Amino acid sequence: MKITRLTTYRVPPRWMLLKIETDEGVTGWGEPVIEGRARTVEAAVHELSDYLVGKDPGRINDLWQTMYRAGFYRGGPILMSAIAGVDQALWDIKGKVLGQPVYELLGGLVRDRMKTYSWVGGDRPAELIAGIAALREAGFDTFKMNGTEELGIIDNARKVDQAVARVAEVRAKFGSEIEFGVDFHGRVSAPMAKVLLRELEPYRPLFVEEPVLAEQDEYYRALADATSIPLAAGERMYSRFDFKRVFERGGLAIVQPDLSHAGGITECVKIAAMAEAHDIAFAPHCPLGPVALASCLQVDFVAHNAVLQEQSMGIHYNQGAELLDYVKNKEDFLLSSGWIRPLPKPGLGVEIDEERVIEASRAATDWRNPVWRHADGSVAEW
Ligand SMILES: [Mg+2]
Repeated sequence: MKITRLTTYRVPPRWMLLKIETDEGVTGWGEPVIEGRARTVEAAVHELSDYLVGKDPGRINDLWQTMYRAGFYRGGPILMSAIAGVDQALWDIKGKVLGQPVYELLGGLVRDRMKTYSWVGGDRPAELIAGIAALREAGFDTFKMNGTEELGIIDNARKVDQAVARVAEVRAKFGSEIEFGVDFHGRVSAPMAKVLLRELEPYRPLFVEEPVLAEQDEYYRALADATSIPLAAGERMYSRFDFKRVFERGGLAIVQPDLSHAGGITECVKIAAMAEAHDIAFAPHCPLGPVALASCLQVDFVAHNAVLQEQSMGIHYNQGAELLDYVKNKEDFLLSSGWIRPLPKPGLGVEIDEERVIEASRAATDWRNPVWRHADGSVAEW
């Protein structure tokens, strides 16, 4: 079997799907994208096709290493997202050829069902109580919310009070009926993270995510030593070579690689195993589309340390399309009280509605991350 063609489709809300075709008619789907830079990743995918077309899609390990090493320069969000989407599609092909879900090819199930959580409250955390109440009706009991809006390197007590009051209100309203993580989203500096973590501690969040930016990961250990809240990060780390540094330094309780950003299934299985060896939990980042989620689930179901799966149903980013709009086998993605079962179909387990993808790709606009500014006019982290 030989790879014959790679086709990319940028689609709403901010995703890109990749179809890899073979000379035997088996096709695989991947989701290579960096939110806000879809066209850049698209160019990278097509550059990688030089290493792929004419090759046996079954030799995933060799193709992965070729894509990673042959270009001399490697790593980072663009290249590793391009590799990730290709890797997903290759696993999809392998599973379809062998008639097995990918998790079977990775050694089989380690759990019967996987816990998912839901985003609530949007970019600027608001209406959390109503949002959680509505999602409770849909069965969810685990949530994630943004912790703050813009926050300066040193900011005032009023903003700290607002952030803490929101969390306090949620805990007061729902008590121990629910669990929630708080995403600092890289908006919080090391000095303010120290303040906020201490003040949030009494409300016992499940975790605080990106307490500081990934490029300031040297603070994770000190912050973890100063709080009992588990710290999580990893959506802006792109390979086991990035993760090894945070494992060495310590401080994280949960790692959150993104299956569409960190080299795909091949790489994230290894990152999960490295985390397990450090007694660190695994909770893949996934505010993306159905192929990304299906890929996450393949790893969740074989990684003993997988604890939570993000998913994007109803997320504030999904303007113009929802998680399952391009999926034919929607029934396989049904959540029951926030739990999802292993996807039963061969490969990644997602049947893409290609006609709908092609149609949607004609009207796809370029999604961009918002640019936020502080009160003094300087750029703020979003
Ligand atoms: Mg995050």
